[in-house]
Amino acid sequence: MQLKEKIIIVTGGGQGLGRAMAEHLAAKGARLALVDLNEERLAAAVAACKSAGGDAGAYLCNVADEEQVGGMVAQVAEDFGGLDGLVNNAGILRDGLLLKVKDGVIGKMSLAQWQAVIDVNLTGVFLCTREVAAKLVELQRAGVIVNISSISRAGNMGQTNYSAAKAGVASATVVWAKELARYGIRVAGVAPGFIETEMVASMKPEALEKMTAGIPLRRMGKPEEIAHSVAYIFENDYYTGRILELDGGLRL
Ligand code: NAD
Repeated sequence: MQLKEKIIIVTGGGQGLGRAMAEHLAAKGARLALVDLNEERLAAAVAACKSAGGDAGAYLCNVADEEQVGGMVAQVAEDFGGLDGLVNNAGILRDGLLLKVKDGVIGKMSLAQWQAVIDVNLTGVFLCTREVAAKLVELQRAGVIVNISSISRAGNMGQTNYSAAKAGVASATVVWAKELARYGIRVAGVAPGFIETEMVASMKPEALEKMTAGIPLRRMGKPEEIAHSVAYIFENDYYTGRILELDGGLRL
């Protein structure tokens, strides 16, 4: 798919990786619908996309809310006069061990901690994919859906909730690639390792060094490198049903 003039929804587009992807796609001439919970950050991201060379609009929407997602997809298609793609990027962390033990069990991962991550990182991806795929079929347009999984899908300590959600996203990607190919819709994913986002910028140098020591390339990935892979998936018409691992060689 050529990205010029293509209408693409990016969830969690207000900051971090989502914003980097949106700016990268905008520079290739795409028209972005940025979805997030924070109005101010959305406005700044829309302005950045416009100065990068692409059209953009802001949509306040909780990806875990069925009604809001349905309304948002319909609104984007109406505002832009069509739809061509989706990046399921919105995600949250609520890390914690399953059990905290010190002379007996002193803590557990709460159901709320589990559910919050499943709701946004897995149910949100399901809802957005379902609604966008339905709209593409209705409009009889080919399309591309890119899901952001994570290296944690292999199972990372302290991330029962997050690892389960990201593994779910990776396997659902394969299901949807198989089910939707007949309608001209490709579905693929990117599983980033440790990426240099705002969160990482405030970390102590010692902690950062410890983190990067196990990465064969000895550094974290850059948001632009993730954005580059997302664009690659849009542009390569033979890529579907696979998860592109982008982790500097790190294995969990
Ligand atoms: P981030 O926290 O900087 O940005 C996430 C964005 O999603 C925020 O703008 C937030 O407001 C939005 N969001 C959260 N919940 C939402 C909801 N319910 N509805 C709509 N928007 C919502 O995160 P990031 O580091 O840029 O990560 C982006 C994606 O990449 C996530 O899916 C994350 O799991 C994944 N990922 C990140 C890394 C990394 O190192 N940063 C590594 C692997 C995977």
